[in-house]
Amino acid sequence: MKLFEHEAKDIFRNFGMPTPPGGVARTPEEAKKRAEEIGKPVVVKAQVLTGKRGKAGGVKFADTPEEAAKVAEQILMMRINDLPVEAVLVEEKLDIAQEIYAGITIDRNERKYVVIGSSAGGMSIEELAAEQPEKIIKRYVEPFLGFQPFEAREMTIAMGFKGKDISKLASFFLKLWKIVEAYDVELTEINPLILTKDGRFLAADARLNIDDNALYRHKDLIEKLKREPVEQNERERRASEEGMAYVELDGDIACICNGAGLTMATLDAVALHGGRASTFLDLGGGADAERVEKGIEIALMYPKVKAILINIMGGITRCDEVAKGIVAARKEKGIDVPMVIRMVGTNEEEGQKILNEAGIPFLSTMEEAASKVVELVKEVS
Ligand code: GDP
Ligand code: MN
Repeated sequence: MKLFEHEAKDIFRNFGMPTPPGGVARTPEEAKKRAEEIGKPVVVKAQVLTGKRGKAGGVKFADTPEEAAKVAEQILMMRINDLPVEAVLVEEKLDIAQEIYAGITIDRNERKYVVIGSSAGGMSIEELAAEQPEKIIKRYVEPFLGFQPFEAREMTIAMGFKGKDISKLASFFLKLWKIVEAYDVELTEINPLILTKDGRFLAADARLNIDDNALYRHKDLIEKLKREPVEQNERERRASEEGMAYVELDGDIACICNGAGLTMATLDAVALHGGRASTFLDLGGGADAERVEKGIEIALMYPKVKAILINIMGGITRCDEVAKGIVAARKEKGIDVPMVIRMVGTNEEEGQKILNEAGIPFLSTMEEAASKVVELVKEVS
């Protein structure tokens, strides 16, 4: 879940991080009021869940409240990266001495959080990485230790800061880390973190993405932000009740497999043969006949499905059990969508025999199975 800049800044402030004074406005009149309260030149910023608003014209300055109303009106009419602007943030315009970058994200290769800082903020971290990679300072966080104050100070020194600035800036990194821990953050970024001409550091922008899989731990936040809880359709709900991993896609071939890796590989094989998957359904380990039958039923609740590809790697899961589940679905439940079955491993022969007796075709390689199911879908479409 992505947070709007103003929502992220509320959290930043709760953790004691300085941000420019200001507030949200949903109409030009409100923007004028906010600017009056600030009583200084302001910056008016589109609140949309996308970056690079500045380049798109979504960040504008105003010297007077009247002007703030005018630019707010312009920004509220914009669409940025195809998203409508429903609110603006009006904040005191800072006198910039330096724009700094501070962020924390997950490095999946290292399997660690990585804290990133740069004295050359303002531009995106991707651009910075391409243009001035030597200006990017990184520290991986040891999971059991967390990000330590001395590491934050080392980072700011490496970024070129001296004297009192070292600990002032370090505290931003430490606060970001606290927020990361508190909210299961996937990515947070302050860009720019502004050093003003009078020597103050403030978070002028704020990005905060929370891991969707951890949202159940942050119900209070979702409620406070008045976000819709992540809606599940009936199929997703049933799959999660059964403990099956289920994802819907745009194609028409349901892939039912055991193991996430095999399911991914099966989607790829379908794509490679010119087909499009409708469903990622991972039955999990040790699926018995009943579970296979349920998986087929859930997959078929999705109207886009025209054919099913079942790809099973028998280990703890026994192919004869899988075959029984398939036969039960076809014979007893009368399910007649085209199905292609591929199974290898434990009790493969027994499984094959059960399918043969029921007249259900069976293929032994993933390649053949993928190309067959794509062919079948072409026939029925
Ligand atoms: P983004 O483009 O979506 O990342 O939006 P930002 O909030 O980062 O704003 C873009 C740029 O506008 C910043 O990099 C700054 O150069 C400028 N900017 C934002 N706030 C201020 C401010 O208070 N004072 C000044 N002078 N410039 C600002
Ligand atoms: Mn920014």
